[in-house]
Amino acid sequence: MDQPSEKNIMKMRNFVEKFAAKSGTYLHPDRTVTDVVVEGLARHIEEVGKPLCPCNFYPDKQAEAKLRRWICACDEMQAYKYCHCLLFVREDGLSMTEYLPDDHECRQIYGL
Ligand code: SF4
Repeated sequence: MDQPSEKNIMKMRNFVEKFAAKSGTYLHPDRTVTDVVVEGLARHIEEVGKPLCPCNFYPDKQAEAKLRRWICACDEMQAYKYCHCLLFVREDGLSMTEYLPDDHECRQIYGL
C-alpha cells in the first residue's frame, strides 16, 4: 500500500486535533491508533479526493465518497460522538457510546 504524502497526513492530523477539541472528545491514548487512522484518511484523500473513513469496506469508494456519510467526521460522529475507528474517544480511551440510540448495533457489540 502506498504511503500517503506528508502534506495529507499533516492536513488530517491537524483536522483530528481540532475536531477532538471542538467535539469534546480525545485522541486515543495509544498514539499508534491515531497514526494508523490518520494515515488511512490521508490515503483516501489521495484515492478519492476526500477523507473517507478507513475502517469500513466500500464496494465503490468513489460512489461512497459522494454520499458523504462516511467522510470524517462522519454522520455517526456528528450525531452521537461515536467513532468506531477509535480516532475520537473518551478521556479514558474508551469508545464514546453514551449518546448512541438504544437500537444502534454497537450497543450490542459493547454489551450495553
Ligand atoms: Fe472519522 Fe467517523 Fe471513521 Fe471515526 S468512524 S475515523 S469519525 S469517519
